[in-house]
Amino acid sequence: MTHANVAGIAVPTGHLIGGEWITSPQTFETRSPLDWDGMHLADVARGDDETATAAMAAAVDGFDEWSQFSVAERAAVLNRLADLIEANNHEIAMVECLDMGFLYESMKERLVARGALNFRLYADLIVQHADRTWPAKNMSNTVQRMPAGPAVVITPWNAPFMLSTWKLAPALASGNSVIHKPAEWSPLSAALLAELTIEAGFPAGAYNMVQGIGSEVGAALVADERARRITFTGSPETARHIGKSAAENLVPFTAELGGKGPLLVFADADLDAAAHRAAWQFDDSGQVCLAGTRLLVDESVREPFLERFHHHTDQLVLGDSREATTDIAPMAHPIQRDRVHSFVERARANDDTIVRGGNPVEGSLHYEPTLIEPASNNSEVVQREIFGPVLTFQTFGSEAEAVELANSTAYGLAAQVWTTSHERAERVGQTIRAGLVWVNTFLVRDLTAPFGGCGLSGIGREGGDYALDFHSDLKTLMILD
Ligand code: NAD
Repeated sequence: MTHANVAGIAVPTGHLIGGEWITSPQTFETRSPLDWDGMHLADVARGDDETATAAMAAAVDGFDEWSQFSVAERAAVLNRLADLIEANNHEIAMVECLDMGFLYESMKERLVARGALNFRLYADLIVQHADRTWPAKNMSNTVQRMPAGPAVVITPWNAPFMLSTWKLAPALASGNSVIHKPAEWSPLSAALLAELTIEAGFPAGAYNMVQGIGSEVGAALVADERARRITFTGSPETARHIGKSAAENLVPFTAELGGKGPLLVFADADLDAAAHRAAWQFDDSGQVCLAGTRLLVDESVREPFLERFHHHTDQLVLGDSREATTDIAPMAHPIQRDRVHSFVERARANDDTIVRGGNPVEGSLHYEPTLIEPASNNSEVVQREIFGPVLTFQTFGSEAEAVELANSTAYGLAAQVWTTSHERAERVGQTIRAGLVWVNTFLVRDLTAPFGGCGLSGIGREGGDYALDFHSDLKTLMILD
């Protein structure tokens, strides 16, 4: 097996297929956003059609064994994996920090812990689950969840570890084997996770992980008719490609896609809390699908809100993701930084007003926290996902206008509402078109609740039983007494 040495941590660079580490003749390079020109991290195996075929064959065999594990046996393996994730907290956090740029402390405190929790949650849910049974005349009816088969799990670069565990846990808990294809910009934490699955006790082929480029090995995996589920998180453009393969093979497919979340601030809101949270949308350099990137503020509180927003944004420290004092990490890749800047350049040309920021930071992959007041609601910066530290600012004159603006993009993932009126919270919350609406808070949620978006933000729902049902073939068994 080939390893890369990443800050003293040995990271496998191959594919995990059928319980074995396999290399490929071709590789791709991963570099650190912390020092793009100076920190080459690894040459990672670049899977091809043959890799995909081998991984699927292993997953078919692995499914035969794993799907026969009892629920208690499966839960024990998932809980062991959670223990191992916790025991390797530093290694996972540091590798993700270097590979993707994520803040080390935040990884350690929040996202590695959440990764372990994702496996524990699904271990609990399958143990607690009872098949639904009801009598009818002289018959009994029982609804059972049958494991569906090999699941292809495709994940994005922006929160690689946490998002991967969130998708892998329900697939495995359901009794499906998996082939995980992590994103090529941040492939390394997936390799550590794959290594831990061996120690956790999955049978060979139940857990497979292939590295490579989306349009190559990723496309080959989703086109393989032996895949029985495809679950994807990423961009709408890629979802369209994958959806065509899913349609061709009639395979159920979920897609968690982009967002353009509104953050509404009413005149009765706790303005300081709202402005503080608005500045927080720059967290992770804005590379967050759930972020409230469109600030919609009651025109009567425009100035006091902006004053507070600038105050909180001024406090943010852009720096090295390994330092505990850093608030804002560099962007994950120069291509993403340049893409963000191209939005801002077009906004300038479009007569949108750059209220603050609007430039890349010299000598690093940081981008200045940026606020733009658009010339109109049709401006590109309002309508398209930028996926960087760029927020737009618009005002509204009435609650109806606020809701109209909130619902005016093709996306519908998440929204935030800031108000002290419970009646308004109910009214506005019910009329916003989004999968998740937070009132006076952000990000906290119960993991058994449905997670997903409307419109361009996705197809289907993850979370709790929703994901377990997706990964199962539901069967109704009717027995005449
Ligand atoms: P992307 O669509 O470019 O890539 C995502 C994954 O798909 C990668 O692993 C990539 O290799 C793979 N891929 C690319 N082409 C493929 C193909 N033809 N067949 C199979 N796989 C293919 O997305 P990204 O740039 O990595 O991620 C950013 C996007 O993800 C943003 O739009 C963001 O909002 C979204 N996102 C959504 C959520 C959510 O939960 N809704 C969470 C995080 C990110």
